[in-house]
Order: sequence, then structure tokens, then C-alpha cells
Amino acid sequence: MHGRVAAAGLQDVADRLDAGERLSFEDGCRLFACRDLLALGFLANREREKRHGGRTYYNFNIRLEATNVCVASCLFCSFARLKPGDPGSYTMSLEQAWDKLRHRAHQPLTEVHVVNGLHPDLPFDYYIELLRGFKRIRPGIHLKCFTAVEIAFFADLYGMTDEQVLRALQDAGLDSLPGGGAEVFAERVRRKICHDKCGADRYLAIHRLAHGLGMRSNITMLYGHIETLEERVDHMVRTRALQDLSGGLQAFIPLAFHPDNNQMRKLPPPTAADTLRTHAVARLMLDNIPHIKGFWIATGVEVAQVLLWFGVDDLDGTVQEEKIYHMAGARTPEAMTTTDIRRLIRAAGREPVERDTLYNVITGPEAPDQPIGTMVTM
Ligand code: SF4
Repeated sequence: MHGRVAAAGLQDVADRLDAGERLSFEDGCRLFACRDLLALGFLANREREKRHGGRTYYNFNIRLEATNVCVASCLFCSFARLKPGDPGSYTMSLEQAWDKLRHRAHQPLTEVHVVNGLHPDLPFDYYIELLRGFKRIRPGIHLKCFTAVEIAFFADLYGMTDEQVLRALQDAGLDSLPGGGAEVFAERVRRKICHDKCGADRYLAIHRLAHGLGMRSNITMLYGHIETLEERVDHMVRTRALQDLSGGLQAFIPLAFHPDNNQMRKLPPPTAADTLRTHAVARLMLDNIPHIKGFWIATGVEVAQVLLWFGVDDLDGTVQEEKIYHMAGARTPEAMTTTDIRRLIRAAGREPVERDTLYNVITGPEAPDQPIGTMVTM
């Protein structure tokens, strides 16, 4: 494989990685331009194994989208409905949202992951009570809720600063921020695909604020639509720069664009090769971010298995009730049991490790793959 790396023109990159040197923006562009996918994957896998060996993390979580009413109109979004009452729109009552957790009292869930549309009429108390109720039902559950885009929206809507919003939500039980809403940081792209939500600088500043308050967070990148490869590298470099400043990022999550039922439906989805390349480049560029996550709902289960040799060490979670990607045409299952997820990790030649949100180990690779939770469909 070393000869292959040299033949692919990446020997200097390999040498610098060996020396622990950081790759530059130009290196990132070269990595994307490299046609030898296996040489690229080999380098990304070396970095993955330096950090995690063969371990592959997942968690037992539930996703919940309490409302899909959203004043924004992102071109890639198949989930949002503009106004309450529009066909297909919904907003859960607090009891309905809490029931999603109550009905899983028998499951050893460790995380509730909440993202929502930007609803113009709900009071701030709705979100405060949502969190408080979850903590009342399961005091130990980790609440990873509200993207930085939602935090900015709350601040503007309720006349607060971003920090005041974060502090109030933290007081009510918020533990960390999910990485959604990052899309692609380049202004050119944001103007075209998501012009009416918070910009990249504010998005990054909110993550920095959250880290300052002791919370952890993730950052995503929606790839495979109108962005250039240089804009993907720029996105990674800006993510890396934030991590240098505040250190609270746990994972970087490339998200494959899905074209069904949205305003960019004429574009093809990214190919499997593009997905492998993007995750591999992320592992190589993001030297200060511990985990690269493959979101199997978006990539497909089969590609997710291959990703475990292309820099990815985390497969997100059991992800029950996912709506956002399925409304955009994802044909993956809406949930996996822990047995399913451990089996697919083992079948890829890796070691499954159940983690909590903060990457504390819950179940190591040595545990037998017994069902520890039953998948519930609701
Ligand atoms: S991606 Fe988020 S902010 Fe954009 S329209 Fe969809 S729900 Fe609204």
C-alpha cells in the first residue's frame, strides 16, 4: 500500500502525517482530487486507528423532531412546512413529546437528540418545559438538543442574546448541542441554499459559547449539492480553527445530500465514492477532532460499513424515529436495534463499543451481541 500512496502522489502527505504535522487547505484540495480512493482510504484509516484502533462507537439514542413548522426555506429541506396548518405540518404537544420517552421506559437509552423547525409562534417556555419534562421522566438522560441555528432563532425571536438562550436552556437540562444546521459555511453556498437562517460566523460563535459554558457539541457538513470541493475543505478548516479555540467539539459528521421532495430534486445524490472520499478527507484534515461520524441513515448501511475503513470510528446511534432524512428519500431503516448495529460493525471487521454522548463506554467489544433493547416502532 505504501507504493500505492506514492503512486497516488500522496507520499509527502503521508510523511507529514507521520511527523504529526497539520495538513493545509491546499493539501485538503489535493486529497479530494486524488483519484486513488484506496490510497486515500489507507491514509485515513491509519489516522483512525492511531486514535481508536478498531473500535467503532455507537449509542442508544432516540431522535425527536417536535415540530416541522419552520419560517426558513432551505432548498435541501424536505422536512419543513412553512406555517402551522399547512398540509403535512405538525407540532407535538409537550405531553406527546414526553410520551416518546415515556414509551421507552424499558429501554436503556442514554440520549435524546432533538432538532426542530424554526417555529414562529411557540413561546420560549415550550422548549424550557420540553427539557425539564425529559429530565423529570429520565433524570440521567443526556439531552442533546437544538442546533446553533435554532439557538440563534430563539435569541432573535425572544429578544435575548445567544448566551442568555444557552444559559436558560442549560438551566432547564440541556447538556450538549447537536451539529445540524452547519450545511456548508461558504457564504456563496449559504446565500443560495439557506439564505434565511443564521450565518456561518454566528453558528460557529454559538458553538464556542456553548463550549465556554461547559457543553460539548458536534459539527456537520451537508455535502454533494452545489458546493465545490474547495468549499468543503474550507468548511473543515473553519471547523478545525474553532476547535483550536474552544476544544469542545466531539465529532465531525459529513451528511450526504438527499434530493427527494425538496427544491434541489434535480441534482443527483452523492455517489458512494464521493461519500467515502469526503469522510476520509475529513479524518485527515481534522487532526484535533476526536471522532468522525458516519450517519448510516444518510449514507446507507452498506456504505456505512465500508466507511469504517475510511476514517470513520462512530456510527451515531440506534436513531429511532428519524424523520428528516426519510422525508428526503432515505431508504435506510428508521431504527436499528443495538444487536443490528453491533452485528453490522462486526461484519465490517471492527469492534462495536456502545458509548454515551460523552464517549464514556457503556458496553465494550467483548460483550456478547445480545439484544439489550427491543426496537419499538410508533
Ligand atoms: S433545514 Fe432546518 S432551518 Fe432549514 S427549512 Fe429545514 S427545518 Fe427549517
